[in-house]
Amino acid sequence: MTAKPAAAAARATVYGYPRQGQHRELKKAIEGYWKGRVTADALMETARGLRRANWRQLVDAGVHEVPTGDFSYYDHVLDTSVMVGAVPDRHRAAVEADALDGYFAMARGTQDVAPLEMTKWFDTNYHYLVPELGPDTVFAADSAKQVGELKEALAPGHTPRPVLVGPVTYLLLAKPAPGVAADFEPLTLLDRLLPVYAEVLGDLRAAGAEWVQLDEPALVQDRTPAELNAAERAYRDLGALTDRPKLLVASYFDQLGEALPVLAKAPVDGLALDFTEAAAGNLDALAAAGGLPGKRLVAGVVNGRNIWINDYEKSLATLGTLLGLADRVDVAASCSLLHVPLDAAVERDIDPQILRWLAFARQKTAEIATLARGLAQGTHTIAAELAANRADLASRAGSAITHDPAVRARSAAVTDADGRRSAPYAKRAAAQRAHLGLPLLPTTTIGSFPQTGELRAARADLRAGRIDTAGYEERIRNEIREVIAFQEKAGIDVLVHGEPERNDMVQYFAEQLTGYLATQHGWVQSYGTRYVRPPVLAGDISRPEPMTVRWTTYAQSCTDRPVKGMLTGPVTMLAWSFVRDDQPLGDTARQVALALRDEVADLEAAGTSVIQVDEPALRETLPLRAAGHAAYLAWATEAFRLTTSGVRDRTQIHTHMCYAEFGDIVQAIDDLDADVVSLEAARSHMQVARELAAHGYPREAGPGVYDIHSPRVPSAEEAASLLRKGLDAIPAERLWVNPDCGLKTRAWPETRASLENLVAAARTVRAEI
Ligand code: GLN
Ligand code: ZN
Repeated sequence: MTAKPAAAAARATVYGYPRQGQHRELKKAIEGYWKGRVTADALMETARGLRRANWRQLVDAGVHEVPTGDFSYYDHVLDTSVMVGAVPDRHRAAVEADALDGYFAMARGTQDVAPLEMTKWFDTNYHYLVPELGPDTVFAADSAKQVGELKEALAPGHTPRPVLVGPVTYLLLAKPAPGVAADFEPLTLLDRLLPVYAEVLGDLRAAGAEWVQLDEPALVQDRTPAELNAAERAYRDLGALTDRPKLLVASYFDQLGEALPVLAKAPVDGLALDFTEAAAGNLDALAAAGGLPGKRLVAGVVNGRNIWINDYEKSLATLGTLLGLADRVDVAASCSLLHVPLDAAVERDIDPQILRWLAFARQKTAEIATLARGLAQGTHTIAAELAANRADLASRAGSAITHDPAVRARSAAVTDADGRRSAPYAKRAAAQRAHLGLPLLPTTTIGSFPQTGELRAARADLRAGRIDTAGYEERIRNEIREVIAFQEKAGIDVLVHGEPERNDMVQYFAEQLTGYLATQHGWVQSYGTRYVRPPVLAGDISRPEPMTVRWTTYAQSCTDRPVKGMLTGPVTMLAWSFVRDDQPLGDTARQVALALRDEVADLEAAGTSVIQVDEPALRETLPLRAAGHAAYLAWATEAFRLTTSGVRDRTQIHTHMCYAEFGDIVQAIDDLDADVVSLEAARSHMQVARELAAHGYPREAGPGVYDIHSPRVPSAEEAASLLRKGLDAIPAERLWVNPDCGLKTRAWPETRASLENLVAAARTVRAEI
């Protein structure tokens, strides 16, 4: 391929970069500031240093245009709320007294004032703070942060492009402020918000920004004609401003669909589109819309949210096609690199062969720069990189790790019958009733008990070699004994071992499954200063040996009551890991399901009569557009059933999910065919019980009667009254009594009191039936 003249200017760019630094400097500085150990000045100096270092790293890697304004002390949506002056009334005084402390008060709350609500940023595991708006909201521009960071990047001579959350996405992510009617639509504030954006854009222009990026990922979701209309209006108005920077409107995570022609026709100067697999329709849609004549196209060909190396030849082919569709084509990652860890090169424990398949943020910037060079100067200028890339991809495709014949054969041999219990629910329920002999309204918990300081210390001691494995396991057994003794004394019917041995509900299993990798430094921001290290589904998955059986059987040996075995389900294992991109998600889910199916069988063989398979992530992985829902739910529910269907009739399968709204996945919950489902419900006054009833849900359910998200202890009367609400929807023979979720984040005193009240409530209500 030789470069066409149009490509001569192709540039490399990114929309955002991991924030915390190589040694988690930002996290340490912010948490130090919260504890009073770091001054505000020192925190700001650390932040400036990190921004400087990040830009330098990007430029040294060959990135031409660097993002600014993507940095955040907590969250970029909260930063946007500050930028447009949308500070909730309850935080106004704090913000006026001290901008930084007020900012953290909005993010985290204070003793007296609640924080903003937090929720997931599209289908990622990053959480943003939800803007609170109402008819009385008065916006006011505050461009200090954006302008400040722009100037910082201009000073050493970089070419910065400020990145802002776009006005339409900002409003679509907002919710009615407390006290505002629930049907208030924040999007109705667009006309009030646009002048504020105009002012910020003017300030950025005056400070020297040639281009400004406005992120509109909300437009990749299904949008109503009114919402598309709002987008059209927004960019017509912003485009019509006279003294403005050039505008680049960015979208990612999925294809733009109906929004593509709207943005393509808007009087803006460029679009940034996702051209990875997740947004495959963008290419054809762009061609169908007539391309972007006279405009700049930024092509997100490097996956910004997964950790695999790019396929250069494929990307160059896409870029080649795009050259015919726009005036100028630049190369980028599909989205901000915020969603991947910083640097794969620092990993020491990963097999060097596998390490060559991985690209974290640093490696991705190099990929982007290489592709831009290939595009601008011809592929002969990147011949060495192309050859190395081809070799790495071939090594991955041909590796024994990614192709385990035994796993593949077993997966291929799965039949529909493997995913079906051998008897219908009614027959199973009778067998379970006879076998378990539980009372009406049986009580149970969701799995974990408080993860105490001693437990964390035990793990740290083991890692540091201060205790040996035997010593560690002794501590775990002691904990299990105490947890069992407490539950017996409290009068709980189906006990749990408390999960004291688990560092994390996904990582614990990932560490024991072949084909899964753990990273040492692969931290990714989840929210604020909380970072997680998602494991990597790198190869075919198999289970060398049982993972939970000895702890469950030990717990069972301490009591005559049934102890529930606890597993993390296949969908959640995928949702909270980096997934393979070389096979369909459903294939990976099936492999994980088969490994878990063996664990279920081993638990049953060891005498476990109740087994819970948690799927808290079932709903969050739902594709962004409705068109993708059915296919996703088909493989997701199949994987769950494959995990759980191998058991005898009398073995009771539980599942657990926690999120506020279940409405749109009740059918999927039904399709899991679990005997018992426990769900979060306390805060919504048992809403889910009514939703299950409306659906005609035929099996047992435990809508939570104890909100575990706060240290507050529900009284026995309160739990009883929730239980009566549950009974209004679900008959007593099918209703369970349990908390909303696991207790690992709670302390012992409130856990003890709350569970005692929960048992008292069950007894009171049983007596009324
Ligand atoms: N069994 C897990 C626990 O109790 C479930 C956690 C979850 O739903 N997120 O901790
Ligand atoms: Zn939960």
